[in-house]
Parts: sequence; C-alpha cells; structure tokens
Amino acid sequence: MMKTPLNISMMLERAEMFFPKKQVISRMKGGVVRHTYKEIGARTRRLASVLKQLGVEVGDRVGTFAWNHHRHLEAYFAIPGIGAVLHTINIRLSAQHIAYIINHADDRVLLIDDDLLPAIEAVKDEIPNVRAFIIMTDADELPETTLSPVYHYEKLLAEGDPTFPFFKDLDEYQPAGMCYTSATTGNPKGVVYTHRSTVLHAMALGLADTQGLCERDVIMPVVPMFHVNAWGLPFAATWFGSTIVMPGPAFTPKVLAELIDAERVTITAGVPTIWLGLLQELEKGNYDVKSLTRVICGGSAAPKGVIRAFEEKYGIPFIHAYGMTETSPLVLVSRPKSYQDALSYEEKLDIRAKQGLLAPGLEMKVIGQNGPVRWDGQEMGELCLRGPWIAAEYYNDDRTKDAFRDGWLHTGDVVTVDEEGFVKIVDRTKDVIKSGGEWISSVDLENALMAHEAVFEAAVVAVPHPKWQERPIACVVLKEGKRVTKEELYDFLRPQFTKWWLPDDIVFLDEIPKTSVGKFLKRKLRDEMAARYAD
Ligand code: ADP
Repeated sequence: MMKTPLNISMMLERAEMFFPKKQVISRMKGGVVRHTYKEIGARTRRLASVLKQLGVEVGDRVGTFAWNHHRHLEAYFAIPGIGAVLHTINIRLSAQHIAYIINHADDRVLLIDDDLLPAIEAVKDEIPNVRAFIIMTDADELPETTLSPVYHYEKLLAEGDPTFPFFKDLDEYQPAGMCYTSATTGNPKGVVYTHRSTVLHAMALGLADTQGLCERDVIMPVVPMFHVNAWGLPFAATWFGSTIVMPGPAFTPKVLAELIDAERVTITAGVPTIWLGLLQELEKGNYDVKSLTRVICGGSAAPKGVIRAFEEKYGIPFIHAYGMTETSPLVLVSRPKSYQDALSYEEKLDIRAKQGLLAPGLEMKVIGQNGPVRWDGQEMGELCLRGPWIAAEYYNDDRTKDAFRDGWLHTGDVVTVDEEGFVKIVDRTKDVIKSGGEWISSVDLENALMAHEAVFEAAVVAVPHPKWQERPIACVVLKEGKRVTKEELYDFLRPQFTKWWLPDDIVFLDEIPKTSVGKFLKRKLRDEMAARYAD
C-alpha cells in the first residue's frame, strides 16, 4: 500500500473541493455571520500566507485565545497548514497559568479575540518571546491596546494570498497542535497532537458507533475550541462537509436554544453543566429543538436525570462519552448493544449513564489492587489506555513519568467494567473516598443526589476521619425556588446505598466551586469541608 502521510490540510481541501457551498455559521456580537467552505478555504489560505510573512516557521507554535467562531476555525487549519503548531490557550486560566503556558509552549504569534484582550494585556510583560499579536475583531479599526506589535486580523487577510498552497512535505508524526490540561494543582501540563493523531481521531468521530458525524449533520460544538480542540469536532465536521454552527463569544443557554431552533442543529456537544442550563432555558422558552438527533455529553459524568429529561421531555437521544486532553479526547461512548434493546428503559438508562465502550482503534486495561480487575461491574481499578490518538508524554514535563508508564497512559480515573465491557468511571484516584479500607465512589453519591427533583448540583468530598481515615460529606445546591430538608435527602439516599456509604453530613451551598472548564473544584471544596469539620 501507499505510504501517504496523514495531514490536517487534507480535511479542509476536501471541504473546499466537494462542499464549497456548505456553510460555517458563527454567532458574533453583531449577529450571525455565514461563510461557505469556499470562503473559509480562501480566508484560511490568506491567513496561512500572512503567518508565513510574519516569520512563522515549520514547528513554531502559534497561540489562539478565542471563542468558538469562524476565525478560530481558520486558525485551526492555517497554522498546521504551514507546518506550525496550533496552541489553543484556555481563556479561563489564571493570569499566572496563561503566562506559564505561553512561555512553556514558546508561542511566537498570538491570535486574540478583541473582548479577551485584557487577559493577555495583563501578562504582556511576562511573555517577551511573542513577536506579534493579531487581534480578531469585527470592528474596522483595532481597539486600544497596550500590546505591541499588533495587527488587525481582517486587514492582514485582505493582504494575504487566497490561493496559498498548504505545506505538505510533513512527516505525519510532526506536531500539529497542543493543548494544556487545566490542572487543579501545579502548572498545566501540555499535550502535543500530531497530524496523524488528529486525522485518525477525526476519522473515528465519523464511525456510526461513536459520534457518527456525517455530511448531513449541522454540528454545534459548545465545548470550547480551547478545550481539547472542541473534542475534535471542528476537524471532523470540516472534513465530512457538515454544516458548522459556532456559538461565538460569551454565549448563554438562551443563545444556544435560539441557535438550535434557527439553524436546525442536529448534533451539539458539551459538558453536563451546559445541558443543565439548556434544560432550564427550554422550560422557560418556546423553542423548537426537534432537529436535534443527539446531544453529546462528556467532560464529567452525565447525571441520569439530565439524560432522562432530554429524552422523555424532548425526545432527544443523549450520548454520554468519556475522554481527556491526553486522549484527543475520544475514548468511550455509551450506546447499548443491539441485543440490549430488549432491556427495560431503566436498565438501558443505567447502561447509558456509564461512560461506555472503548472506541475502535484503542486498547484498554484496568488495574486494581491485585492486578487486572474482573469484569463484574464491581471491582474498581485505574483505567489505562494506549492507541494512535493517545499521548505518549507531557510536553517537556517531569510529570510524564507519573502518568505514562510501560507504554500505557495511566488516566488517574477509577473505573469498573461490567460483563459487557461497559466502563463506568466511579471516581478519580484522588477523589475516591477511602473509608475503613473500602472505597466509596463520590460520583455515585453525587449522581444519586442530583436525581432528586429539588437538587441542582451535588458534590461529595472526603474529610479526614480519626477512625475511618476518610468520610464523605455531600455539598448540595438546590434548584431555583425548590426546598428540601437534610432528612428528606437522607431518606432519598437510604434505599440506594449501604449504610456506611451515606455521607456523614449534607451541606447546602449557594454554588459549587468550579474549575475553569466548569468541573467541580473538589480540592477547594475538600479544603473548605476539612476546615469546617476539623475539631
Ligand atoms: P482537565 O484535565 O483540563 O480537567 P480533561 O478534559 O482533560 O480536562 O479532563 C479529563 C477528565 O475528565 C477525565 O480524566 C475524567 O476524570 C473526566 N471525565 C471526562 N469525561 C467524563 C465522563 N463522561 N464522565 C466522568 N468523568 C469524565
């Protein structure tokens, strides 16, 4: 067979060739804008030529600091299209971490959304190696800024070459992108994606048993483009010629509901907090969301109540998936097997609330206290992975040796595997509650609490205990206008868990502290609760 290297540019070239009329739709501050793939292709080539003129060389890193929109998509293809490396910077990191990752990646040029300028201006004196700042703005002129030298994205593009050829003389293992995990402790850790891993991962997103993306789909990635490449959706959607809908800057649940309704979105993807918000919005407004063929949810466990609400109230299939920055991210997708159709809805719901089956192309093993675990849905162990879109190391980082051992990525996720091979995340190795020599899954307790009709969010953390080593404490946020007592919640939990799993206390909070990407910040909560219960 031929040895043709896999290359990110081939995805956009296919869209230009076969789907020039299909659209990328972005909601910007001034309203919705539409570009065809023909236009996106020409604009991307202009950007590629301009980056070359600015001195970006093969292998150089170019950072983006932006929301989900067409310009960010152009950067997704223009940067690898000249052999450079697309570094998507998480806009929600602290100033200290933003400066750290720009320097650690050694970004040469930054592309920045105008409304996000203050965050980069705040660190401008700490990032001396950045040679050019390109401001992405809808305005005719550049906004006032302390950054220098600055360029206007659209004016640069106007000078660029719309026929500029993409650089193809690349080894497929050459770096194409990088993303830092939003670590809850220490500095963020960088993962470098290659052309090969990105293309293979995008192809896997088209498989019917994973996400099944195709040309007919209208795909709205709500998951940010600075978070694991919006789960690879912009690459796959472009390659397959799907219509893309980008929710743009500072979107709200209302914006999402309106876009789904107006643009007839068929697939949307994001973390559970997004879907909780959307459900509340759908209750309030009169939206038509019947175009949705599925909602893809990952990043943290999807509560059963959310899956049920989408399906029972709105008839929208809800697909639960699992992955991480280190895995590109596609790893597990939860779809019951054909012969499980005969099960009751509740039994199927139990399966679908698990994280799912391993995607084709990857290998997994689950290692417990005594080696590989039994596939009995009970024994807990750490999920380990390998495959062509699984990272082999952290970029220039000593912490590589903790997670990458013996050719496997040790995910830090504690899981069980059932008889059918469905994996269920029961906790993170650092969040699982170690009580009297046994493990209690904080996630199981959280899901049970969040299934109560008065509960909006619940997080369960360990507090130190003199006798049992650790004990669980539940922190609960109620839905707007709902009330429930502690005793009522205990009555609700009691039939579902053995006695020693029940939290020692249930605390009502106004909100659960979150990480920059909307996950529960367990470490902070753990510290707060430890202080609260210290004698
Ligand atoms: P970060 O590390 O920046 O928080 P990642 O997306 O890399 O972001 O986080 C990956 C982690 O998120 C996984 O290791 C796992 O603990 C958790 N996770 C991802 N998807 C799910 C899911 N469907 N259910 C439960 N946990 C999940």
